[in-house]
Amino acid sequence: MCGIVGYIGKNQAAPILLEGLSKLEYRGYDSAGIAVYNNNELEVAKSKGKLAVLSEKIDGGKKLGGNMGIGHTRWATHGQATEANAHPHTSANGRLILVHNGVIENYLQIKDEYLSGDTFKGETDTEIAVHLIGHFVDEGNSVLDAFKKALHIIQGSYAFALVDSENPDTIYVAKNKSPLLIGIGNGYNMVCSDAMAMIRETSEFMEIHDKELVVLTKDS
Ligand code: GLU
Repeated sequence: MCGIVGYIGKNQAAPILLEGLSKLEYRGYDSAGIAVYNNNELEVAKSKGKLAVLSEKIDGGKKLGGNMGIGHTRWATHGQATEANAHPHTSANGRLILVHNGVIENYLQIKDEYLSGDTFKGETDTEIAVHLIGHFVDEGNSVLDAFKKALHIIQGSYAFALVDSENPDTIYVAKNKSPLLIGIGNGYNMVCSDAMAMIRETSEFMEIHDKELVVLTKDS
């Protein structure tokens, strides 16, 4: 199980995400990626292999402006260690972006029951989760309600951080049997799988319990 970092606040997010992910490297991983809200859209950068490869691609984060984003290091459980399978993953409608640590046990049932018309870019259980949330948004639910509906269906272990390309002011997070905690700052907040990754930014943490969902903004 590898790492998740999220940041929402006033500073440039990408370098903070890369720094946070570097603190999680000791946990082991095979690929890494980030999504940052920049110029009114979510920009995704990911790569197979070491974090340094990703970092070089985006010039240490300097290439990506924006004050909100999520990052991930992956330890493949479903699908090869490829760039296509690296997180973040995107919903079919392109609107939602998700990172995940853990294993979704009923991903094949979800695919059959709800997503039979969808095409997927990779082979991960995670991509099915974000398509499921997107499916509920397409049915007319808010992102929060769609996320809740999906969490009622998803079985297994997860630490999730979800962002919406139509809302730069919110990161949605949830966990079950995978580590994830909130870091509280003044005018910014963070989410992370390990306090180590936020230690430069804050020393105030808040636990997330299993099956809780947290809506994170820069002030709350
Ligand atoms: N099960 C997911 C995958 O294979 C997440 C793995 C992880 O925890 O990094 O992509």
